[in-house]
Amino acid sequence: MNLSVRSKLFLASIVLVLVVILTIGIYLNYALSQWLETRISSELKSQVILGRLFLQEKKGDLTVEHMDWVADMLGNRLSKRVTIMTIDGVVLGDSQLNLEEIGHLESHDARPEVVDAIRAEFGQAKRYSNSVGTSMLYVAGLFHHSSGKEAVLRIAMSLQDLETTREHLLLVLVFAGTLAMVAALSVGGVATHLVTGTLRKLVRHAQVLAMEAGAQPIPVYQHDEISGLTGSLDQIALELRRNLQELSDARSHLEAVLEGMEEGVVALDNAGCMTLMNHYAKKLLAVADFQTGKPLAEVVQVQSLLNLLANTGESTVKSVEFDLPGPPVCQVLAGITTMGNQAGRILVLRDVTEIRRLEMIRRDFVANVSHELRTPVSVIQANAQTLMDGAMEDYEYSGILMEAIERNASRLSRIITDLLELSRLEAEHAPFELQPLYLAQAMDRVYMLRREMAENKNIDICFYMDPNTQILANGGALDRVLGNYLDNAIYYNVPGSCITIRFVDQNQFIRLEVEDNGIGIPQEHRSRIFERFYRVDSGRSRKVGGTGLGLAIAKHMVDRMGGEVGVDSVEPHGAKFWATFMKVT
Ligand code: ADP
Repeated sequence: MNLSVRSKLFLASIVLVLVVILTIGIYLNYALSQWLETRISSELKSQVILGRLFLQEKKGDLTVEHMDWVADMLGNRLSKRVTIMTIDGVVLGDSQLNLEEIGHLESHDARPEVVDAIRAEFGQAKRYSNSVGTSMLYVAGLFHHSSGKEAVLRIAMSLQDLETTREHLLLVLVFAGTLAMVAALSVGGVATHLVTGTLRKLVRHAQVLAMEAGAQPIPVYQHDEISGLTGSLDQIALELRRNLQELSDARSHLEAVLEGMEEGVVALDNAGCMTLMNHYAKKLLAVADFQTGKPLAEVVQVQSLLNLLANTGESTVKSVEFDLPGPPVCQVLAGITTMGNQAGRILVLRDVTEIRRLEMIRRDFVANVSHELRTPVSVIQANAQTLMDGAMEDYEYSGILMEAIERNASRLSRIITDLLELSRLEAEHAPFELQPLYLAQAMDRVYMLRREMAENKNIDICFYMDPNTQILANGGALDRVLGNYLDNAIYYNVPGSCITIRFVDQNQFIRLEVEDNGIGIPQEHRSRIFERFYRVDSGRSRKVGGTGLGLAIAKHMVDRMGGEVGVDSVEPHGAKFWATFMKVT
């Protein structure tokens, strides 16, 4: 049934009021009848008691003539029907009947109130009286007449009054009920109107929201104000669920992207407190337990970054580079972006330590290579010019000039050869072809070529080598590495000192060490000594004829043979260069 909420509430109020009125009416009718009957019965009983006393005192015969007179007299006084009868049920007097009618009355000995009075002194009954033609309530009492006989006095009252009172009460009830119903319906009507008015507005609002959310209509089988609301709310709930799912998916994607990034991302609110931090940022800033809402300033105490955070304006991207103390110390480039609607800021952190290092190497390389090439070229140019200007005639001087040209040309050639070698090594990434080689044999071979040079400098070379040590290496590359280490040890050593060459067994590797007591390499240069053209003292290096590329080439070669290179200091002075090679077991 398609009734509006208003009609449903209206019908419900009518039913409710009717049920309440009927229940109250039935209960009142019953309770009132009971109460009236009890009252009348007790009144009748009192009157019977008084009438009995009167009759017991009364002189005279127990005859119809006398008793009818007494009954009439009592009936008049009490305004009730009074009957006097013998205990056999023979009526002697009745206030509502004349003597002739009394004569025709049947015996009353079977009347229940009479039977009870004879048996128990008092009796009571309610029934329809044929003789009076109405419902009556009878109360009878046994009494002793002055003649010595027993007789029964019965006083009766018509229940007509009771009925009249009840009918009157019912009329009042019907009237009150009608009034109550009208009042209830009016108040209910107004209240329903107000409630359904609000409800209708609510439904319209919910429908607009559902339509804006783009939800599909859901079939509704009841059509009232609330069903409309239910439908709209269902649509909104469905749309909300879908939106939440989409949001959750988007969040998962975002988290996956953030966690997979090789950059640190920190989201900050407008107060500079962290709301999100990805894995890389935690690693970079050494944050063990990330707490949402913690100020960034408590995690990073870098003034330049804090200044950047303090100065960021509307929708601008700014960046700053700073060092994080570590360890290890790293250079970080931080960029900050302000999100629209004052929603906070995003800080992106990038570890640029390696990039900066490579940039520096590239810068140094370009500067070094031009410098290295320019010096011999300038010498060759100047000497050639001098010769052409007439120095050729001076044999002794021209000899010196030409010798300098030859020396610088060879140096240029060595630099170019080393550069080509280095670029070839950097271009190819395939490992060298390796074969088992006796390391001591290679060392001997290399030493023999430098023996004279060492002897000239009065340098002793001590070998601690196991002649059976076999390594996996490329013959040419191995000679180049050993030659470079030994050359440097002789060049940068002081005359009269010694060099120690040692093999150290390191399980799967053999570590070759070349130790000298020369000038050594200060700590700050050690990490860069294997870079191209890197020199501790370029003047000295050039004097000894070095190109500055030997160690860089050696590092590349050892790398390609599967080993590592390094340098340690020697106390009180000197350097220990080492390289590892794969051991043949
Ligand atoms: P170079 O041809 O200049 O020797 P290298 O690449 O072989 O080039 O060496 C680079 C620099 O390392 C040298 O210029 C020198 O400053 C330093 N060096 C190399 N070996 C030693 C050593 N045994 N003692 C001190 N300094 C060294």
